[in-house]
Amino acid sequence: MLRGRQAVVTGGSRGIGRAIVLELARQGADVALIYAGQAEAAEQTRSEAASFGVRAEAYQCDVSDWDQAGAMCQAIVADHGRVDILVNNAGIVRDKLLMRMTEADFDQVIAVDLKGSVAVTRHLLHALLRSPHGRIITISSVAAVMGNVGQTNYAAAKAGLIGFTKSLAREVAGRGVTCNVITPGYIATDLTAELSQPVADRLAGLIPLKRLGSPQDVAAAVGFLASDAAGYITGEVLAVDGGMWM
Ligand code: NDP
Repeated sequence: MLRGRQAVVTGGSRGIGRAIVLELARQGADVALIYAGQAEAAEQTRSEAASFGVRAEAYQCDVSDWDQAGAMCQAIVADHGRVDILVNNAGIVRDKLLMRMTEADFDQVIAVDLKGSVAVTRHLLHALLRSPHGRIITISSVAAVMGNVGQTNYAAAKAGLIGFTKSLAREVAGRGVTCNVITPGYIATDLTAELSQPVADRLAGLIPLKRLGSPQDVAAAVGFLASDAAGYITGEVLAVDGGMWM
């Protein structure tokens, strides 16, 4: 259980992030969730998390803005006093074949999916290093390891998170902080609802377990990596993908 641990979840308002917030709260952690703009969804998730009897707060921030992320992280540390668990989950897609991809399509995805996670981690690192149970868990994607048509920008950003995590894992291991990546497969959320039907059908056909993943499938893995039981696991890439990549 995570009673009394202080957790931060980016992109915690909807989809996979929402399930992660609720799983950490269910296990007793106080949670700060970060969202980009959908205040109503954020408030709904926040109040559901609080119903587990923990402290839950929502913070609006564009994680791709380094200074905005810095100010928000400062506010979270001031409000919560400590940070024990960071889950880098916020992400977007701008799917297009490279032949049609614009500089903006590439830059936006790198800015949110790669730089956003780096920014929040950088700004919370001092606090995490002070925790006796520091955990940094980053949500990448199966696309990082197997590639996907129409996702050169997204796969590059998500593969970057793996290199980032393994390097950081080595930098902070001496302080007992673990850094791990989860690579979800095809999970039913608003994000995948944006996929074109041919891409969605092709992906579904690649899943040996023959069903789409649920946000809770990913949240359960986060709950484990955040726990004391996972204290000897660092620099690992854990697939939660129904066997898509093995
Ligand atoms: P959703 O689109 O359902 O939710 C995205 C979340 O990220 C929302 O909370 C959103 O906030 C937040 N967000 C988006 N941009 C920013 C930003 N610039 N700053 C702060 N917060 C932001 O996505 P999913 O739940 O599907 O995906 C979550 C993560 O899992 C992503 O990193 C995604 O790449 C990854 N993933 C998802 C897969 C899937 O099949 N769904 C597969 C593999 C990986 P708001 O509500 O305010 O918009």
